[in-house]
Amino acid sequence: MIIENARILTFDSRNRVLDCGSVEVRDDGSIGEVCGTRPALSLSKGALACADSGEKFDARGRLLMPALINCHTHLYSTLARGISLPGTPPKNFPEILKKLWWRLDRALSQQDIYYSALVGVMDSARCGVGTLVDHHSSPSAVSGSLDVIERAFREVGLRGVLCYETTDRNGPRNAQQGIDENVRFIERARKSDGLVNASFGLHASFTLGDRTLRRSVEANESLQAGFHVHVSEDRSDNEDARRKHGKSPVRRLHEVGVLDDRALAAHCIHVSGADITALARHQINVVHNPQSNCNNAVGAARVLEMVKAGVLVGLGSDGYSPRMWDEFKTAFHVQKMRAGDPRVAYAEAYALALLNNRTIARKVWNLDIGRIEAGARADLVLYDYFPPTPLTSDNIFGHALFGIAHAPVDSLVVNGRFVIRDRQFVSVDERAVAEKATACTRQLWRRF
Ligand SMILES: [Zn+2]
Repeated sequence: MIIENARILTFDSRNRVLDCGSVEVRDDGSIGEVCGTRPALSLSKGALACADSGEKFDARGRLLMPALINCHTHLYSTLARGISLPGTPPKNFPEILKKLWWRLDRALSQQDIYYSALVGVMDSARCGVGTLVDHHSSPSAVSGSLDVIERAFREVGLRGVLCYETTDRNGPRNAQQGIDENVRFIERARKSDGLVNASFGLHASFTLGDRTLRRSVEANESLQAGFHVHVSEDRSDNEDARRKHGKSPVRRLHEVGVLDDRALAAHCIHVSGADITALARHQINVVHNPQSNCNNAVGAARVLEMVKAGVLVGLGSDGYSPRMWDEFKTAFHVQKMRAGDPRVAYAEAYALALLNNRTIARKVWNLDIGRIEAGARADLVLYDYFPPTPLTSDNIFGHALFGIAHAPVDSLVVNGRFVIRDRQFVSVDERAVAEKATACTRQLWRRF
């Protein structure tokens, strides 16, 4: 297929803006030739041959760029939309977990897991997200839960990285089930086609004893998957680690073998200078989730300091929103407020949203996404965006912040296949899914 007549932001090594370009999408789901002029006027031989033989998709001058990546989310939280909590509102982060999320995840059945994943994946696709890195928890339905989520990803056509949240909060038997589910799914994902990948999930230092951490590291010994874990999201995580282990969560998790250059450390808000140095030295990947952090009032991560120290910081939503552009904007605003300086955070917010997530995807799962260049995977989003001011390689930030972030998604291609085409899902019926999810949620809320 050739996508033609598009304004293209390549995000490749030359970071080009092609005002009227075309992209060849090969049958194997990779990108072929990328041309910067009208195909009818000038096409290289290879692209011309492909254009002659394959389908053409007319972008009608819309904006084509790499599909977005969400490096930390919780699809299991999707069906909490509109739920009401009994009793007094939770006053801090531990209470939010106990009164909402740890009650919800315990109530989840396999059917709930399926619909929460399906709705969450579709919501993300609608927002131009092509890859979701999920962190799943369903203590009453552990075994096989990641297969159910994988089914939702495949039905919609999105790319995913899945893991199960191993924890001691539901007893040792449940912790072992979590370890087993991770091991089983990592082995399964490695035999599949690369659309759905795997990490090894752990909840957080404060719900994991030394025995379960050691067992997880041992179980992962031959697999060498990266761990995906919450780190210093709230002060209570640090206080717990200091009290029980005499060290910070970063130090504890690094020393036991969890945090290394393949690990995703979500949040890292209450990190010390020594922690930041360790994150940089050991090339541990941090994922910043600014909207969730605001919502939970847990603090503002020291993103500028971490980036300056050489830490690779990506961006996620923590399940708060499917809109990665909102995370980008919030990261930008929060860091400016934190610094009290309107001049800062431009380069950092841009890097978090558009460059670092793809670096993490490449480094941890060997996924070549996030750029429009020959050989990369064809994960592409077409926005209904016609810039009313000049758009060049030098001012993409301004267009992203004030324009593209609000533009509707016209089409989404993942792994060379349309997920959304002309604003319609290709393989799923959006209304039918919403109706079934609502019926499923009524029962879930009764059990909550
Ligand atoms: Zn999270």
